[in-house]
Amino acid sequence: MRNVVIIGSGCAGNTAAIYAARANLKPLVVGGHEPGGQLSITSLVENFPGFPEGINGPDLVENMKKQAEHFGAEYIHGSVTEVDFTKRPFRLNIDGEWHETRTVIIASGASARWLNLPSEQKLIGHGVSSCATCDGFFYRGKKIMVIGGGDSAMEEANFLTRFGEEVTLVHRRDAFRASKIMVDRTVANPKITMVTNTVVDEVHDVSQKTVTGVTLRNLKTGETYRRDVDGFFVAIGHIPNTRPFVGKIELDEDGYIVSHGGARTSLTGVFHAGDVQDRTYRQAITASGAGCMAAIEVERFLEAEGH
Ligand SMILES: Cc1cc2nc3c(=O)[nH]c(=O)nc-3n(C[C@H](O)[C@H](O)[C@H](O)COP(=O)(O)OP(=O)(O)OC[C@H]3O[C@@H](n4cnc5c(N)ncnc54)[C@H](O)[C@@H]3O)c2cc1C
Repeated sequence: MRNVVIIGSGCAGNTAAIYAARANLKPLVVGGHEPGGQLSITSLVENFPGFPEGINGPDLVENMKKQAEHFGAEYIHGSVTEVDFTKRPFRLNIDGEWHETRTVIIASGASARWLNLPSEQKLIGHGVSSCATCDGFFYRGKKIMVIGGGDSAMEEANFLTRFGEEVTLVHRRDAFRASKIMVDRTVANPKITMVTNTVVDEVHDVSQKTVTGVTLRNLKTGETYRRDVDGFFVAIGHIPNTRPFVGKIELDEDGYIVSHGGARTSLTGVFHAGDVQDRTYRQAITASGAGCMAAIEVERFLEAEGH
C-alpha cells in the first residue's frame, strides 16, 4: 500500500516527488511513455529560474528526478492504463499490474499536437517548437513560421513578431477557427504574412540538425515551393493525457482535468499537477509549482486521515 502514487515524471511529477519524498511519504512515480516529460525532447531551457546560462531540458528533469530519489522517491517504468477510483484505497493498473494507494497525483501532462512529418519530428528542439513563450527568444531577427489556424496560432504568431524579422502563418484552409478579433489583429500586424490553403510537406534540414526552410504545397493549385525559415512553430493544439481517467474524475470538453480548487480534482484523495490541468500557462516552472501544491495537499490530506 502506497501513500501516494504520482502519475508522470515531467516537471510536475518530479517536483511533487521531491516534496512528497521530503515529507517521508515514499512516493512511487510512474514514468509513462515519455520519462522526463516534454522537457526531455527540447534542448536549451533559458527561463527556469536558477540557471543563469540556461540548462538543457533533459538535464533539468534528470536533476529533478535525482533530487527526488535522493530523498526516497521510487520511480518505475510503465504507464497507468486503467484506474479504479470507486473506493479507497485507489487501485492503479500499471502495465498489467494493480497497485494500491491512499492518494494519487495525476501529473500526466498534455502532449503537443505535431504535423507528424518525419523531418519535423527529427528537428524538435533544433528549430522546431510547439511553444512560442519557451523558444521565441532564440529567433531574434530571424525568419519564423507558425502553423495553425486557431486562437493559439494567432496568439503565437503575434507574440513571435516581438522577436522575428518576419513571421509567416501557414494554414491549410482559407477559413480560420480563431476568433474574429484574433484574426483581425493578426491580419493587421505588418510583420505577419498569412499563407492559406497550404500545407507543409517537409522541414529542412535534418542533415544539418537545424531548421533552414520548409517545402510548402498549395492545396488549390498543387504547386510546391521552398521557403527559408529559421524557426518553425507548430500551434495546432495539445492533447491532455487523460485517457485512463475518462469517466473517473471530472474532465472538461477537451479532456483537461477540472480543478476543484488548489490541486484538488472532483474526487477526494486524487490531485492534479501541471499541464494536464493547466491549459493557460504550460511552462516548466508553473508545472513544478503545481507539483509542489499537489504534494503539500497530499501530505495534509494524509495527516488529517491519520496516516
Ligand atoms: C519542445 C518543447 C519545448 C519547451 N520548452 C520549454 C521551456 O523552454 N521552458 C518552459 O518553461 N517550458 C517549456 N516547455 C513546456 C514544458 O515542457 C511543459 O510545460 C512541462 O513539461 C509540463 O510539465 P508536466 O509535468 O505537467 O507534463 P509533461 O512534461 O508533459 O510530463 C507528463 C508526464 O506524464 C507521463 N504520462 C503521461 N501519461 C501517463 C500515463 N498514463 N501513465 C504514466 N505516466 C504518464 C509522461 O510520460 C510524462 O512523463 C516546452 C515544451 C515543449 C514540447
